[in-house]
Amino acid sequence: MVIDLHNHTPLCNHAKGSPLEFVQKAVEKKIDLFGFSDHAPMNFDQAYRMSFDEMARYEEEILELKKAFKADIKIRLAYEVDYLPGFIDSRVLDREVDYLIGSVHFIGGWGFDNPEFLSDYHGRDPDETWSEYFRLIGEMAKTKHFNIVGHMDLLKVFNFKPSKDTVRLAMKALEEIRKAKMAIEINASGLRKPVGEQYPSNELLAAALDFGIPITFGSDAHDVSHIGFHLTENMRKAKELGFKEYAYFEERQMKLLNF
Ligand SMILES: [Zn+2]
Ligand SMILES: [Zn+2]
Repeated sequence: MVIDLHNHTPLCNHAKGSPLEFVQKAVEKKIDLFGFSDHAPMNFDQAYRMSFDEMARYEEEILELKKAFKADIKIRLAYEVDYLPGFIDSRVLDREVDYLIGSVHFIGGWGFDNPEFLSDYHGRDPDETWSEYFRLIGEMAKTKHFNIVGHMDLLKVFNFKPSKDTVRLAMKALEEIRKAKMAIEINASGLRKPVGEQYPSNELLAAALDFGIPITFGSDAHDVSHIGFHLTENMRKAKELGFKEYAYFEERQMKLLNF
């Protein structure tokens, strides 16, 4: 079964193509299970996400597509939620969805994956910044609000790499992810970005396997052309790394599939 659990809609103001077009493309790409996980609202950085008022409309539209395409593809409803301490909102956490992706896009309010704030990399110590990033990932897992870790090493997007071993820096976070029974997604969007590789790295994926953390897959599509991007390759990569199964979620419950 081919699955893709990370996809956006124009409601976040930085994605192109209607949900209907996304679904049609997913069917064409022979994806069996397709999850919409648009950026959840938050009272911070509102320009890049839907508003609280738009949640109902988003959910209705996806659930209508789910019904309409029932014979062709399994559609799942989700959100990608920013983990930014002080801005976690129960209005999002309490939605009736299949899963929540927990993602760290901000370190102390700095949107490090946004090219607008590239100059903020100057003068930052890579090891300290990476430690703080993984500390936030661990803290996010510890809340147990989320099902999937979004793009686990996103901080490498502009090739800002630590001098220390990334896996060592991520150890505590990996332990919290295991304890929270979350999955880690292999997210293809890094292949479209300056770093030119999937999130997370092969090294972190191998460490996740050692920890017994399940994996899942996401193209992080913000455009119809992104759908299914590198999905076959990433599934093959997971198998080669030694993963025997992969995960998806229904009504917040993890389901495992064999390769
Ligand atoms: Zn986005
Ligand atoms: Zn994201």
